[in-house]
Amino acid sequence: MTAPEGPVVVIGAGPVGLAAAAHLAERGVDFLVLESGPGVAAAIEEWRHVKLFSPWRYDIDSAARRLLEQAGGWSEPDLGSLPTGGDLIDSYLEPLTKTPQLTDRIRYGADVVAITRAGYDRVRTDGREKVPFLIRLADGSELLASAVIDAAGTWRRPNVLGGSGIPARGEAVAADHIAHALPDVLGRDRERFAGRRTAVLGAGHSASTTLLELGELAGEVPGTEVLWVVRGTDQARTYGGGEADELPARGALGTRLKKLVRSGHVTLVSGFRTEELAPTADGRVELVSGDQRIVVDTVVNSTGFRPDHDMVAELRLDLDSIMGSTRALAPLIDPNRHSCGTVPPHGVDELTHPEPGYYAIGAKSYGRAPTFLLATGYEQARSIVAALAGDWEAARDVQLDLPETGVCSSNLAFPEDEATGGGCCGPAPQAEAITAPAGRGLATGISGGLLTVIDSSAPKQSGCCN
Ligand SMILES: Cc1cc2nc3c(=O)[nH]c(=O)nc-3n(C[C@H](O)[C@H](O)[C@H](O)COP(=O)(O)OP(=O)(O)OC[C@H]3O[C@@H](n4cnc5c(N)ncnc54)[C@H](O)[C@@H]3O)c2cc1C
Repeated sequence: MTAPEGPVVVIGAGPVGLAAAAHLAERGVDFLVLESGPGVAAAIEEWRHVKLFSPWRYDIDSAARRLLEQAGGWSEPDLGSLPTGGDLIDSYLEPLTKTPQLTDRIRYGADVVAITRAGYDRVRTDGREKVPFLIRLADGSELLASAVIDAAGTWRRPNVLGGSGIPARGEAVAADHIAHALPDVLGRDRERFAGRRTAVLGAGHSASTTLLELGELAGEVPGTEVLWVVRGTDQARTYGGGEADELPARGALGTRLKKLVRSGHVTLVSGFRTEELAPTADGRVELVSGDQRIVVDTVVNSTGFRPDHDMVAELRLDLDSIMGSTRALAPLIDPNRHSCGTVPPHGVDELTHPEPGYYAIGAKSYGRAPTFLLATGYEQARSIVAALAGDWEAARDVQLDLPETGVCSSNLAFPEDEATGGGCCGPAPQAEAITAPAGRGLATGISGGLLTVIDSSAPKQSGCCN
């Protein structure tokens, strides 16, 4: 078969896109990285203040490390320490972009808006694998590629606040009251939250991180009120595996959050499915779920992210109907089925779509599953690049060593980040939840016009860790 013309184009200069670039460079494959932001890792740049829970040993790709070592002048960080997003950029990704193999291969401000096959729409079949991909950028320019590695992440597409998966009524109108996941509560964005009332929606690590910072702020600035608003009624997964987590920092997130809730610094509102957001006369915003109402100054949207499949709508993708990942990958990462924080090693075979030469890797490869880890993405990158270089033995020799969370489950009700409560082997939830399911518990009220129910019948853990 004649190979299509053009370089392999990597979309996104985040950690996984750059790992793919490093592997392409090592294998001598012509490549170009397109990054929409003005600099490297524009998504991580927005959460540079956040500390990762994975120590450095899990955060550096093997080929990237080799390029950095060859280039000289790079000091490897202490592999046992935890970087912030900023450290990841400053001490690893930025130096990587300056290595001779990568430096002229990255175009910044290159926002990819559409990818198709040159001269072919999705329907036309004969010979499509022989023609290059056509990539259009937001500025209208176009280029050709022999293959596409889509490492665009999901950061630019946050989930909606609406509890039913579509925007809550009034969500767009209330945009000024909504903060993106992971505001810099103790730094840049402090004024927005100090002495004010904030609701954090979501139940993943992003929510935990923001709640912990808001809890700290509440201790410093009187009048700072923090609500943690979730759809589910069981926070076992968010609280995590504690000391059973092989990444202590990840386990500590949940443990510290649990303490904050118990101490009353954070008020947990569970069983709340946001239906409507309405600005109030005094400049706040009201969230509505059935007959429940919460009035706050700001809502932090930590409900997770969605992959952008629109830009590849003219390619032939075989997406899992729930996760939005490839169908082969979905059962390995679907939190409806199981999740122990680990995923079996996977690579080119699990990431292949019917469209030859197009692969989504990194956070985007997981679709809506919230459990993606860098180490997974680095192995994906290595495997895909080996396949593109024709080294199928290496491509299929996938290996992955991921730390366990200490929390796993086999019967979760909802796939999204926000709703991954329900783990069956974490510590039993306490009766501190303020929740709103019909017909359970004891009605009470808290400040700000919020009518709630304290759940004294939260389900206990069954200890079915698998
Ligand atoms: C707060 C936070 C903490 C995390 N902590 C950990 C941790 O401790 N350990 C761990 O293993 N994982 C962690 N993760 C998960 C994951 O590893 C990160 O999200 C990681 O950034 C994913 O890397 P990526 O390269 O796939 O995507 P991203 O880092 O999102 O990079 C994607 C890049 O593509 C660019 N881009 C997007 N769209 C386009 C387009 N259309 N055209 C061109 N460029 C585009 C973006 O600007 C961005 O630079 C964390 C995630 C978050 C949000």
